[in-house]
Amino acid sequence: MGCGCDDCEKMMQPYVDGMLSDDEVVEAKAHLEACPPCDKRYRFEEKLRHFVRIAADEPMPEELKQKLAGLRST
Ligand SMILES: [Zn+2]
Repeated sequence: MGCGCDDCEKMMQPYVDGMLSDDEVVEAKAHLEACPPCDKRYRFEEKLRHFVRIAADEPMPEELKQKLAGLRST
């Protein structure tokens, strides 16, 4: 999985979560620029977080809500 650098494995999650210190962010960015597989992985993780956030904001799609409401009334 990934490029095999131990460092990027360690910094990936905290980086995506915004938990790194300023110095560590600089380091992480430098690594991502030099390491395309990590950069790709970071973009994936970031997208994943994004979708999770949307899912949390909208727990249920309108269509599903209506379907459930329909089930309840029958
Ligand atoms: Zn790497």
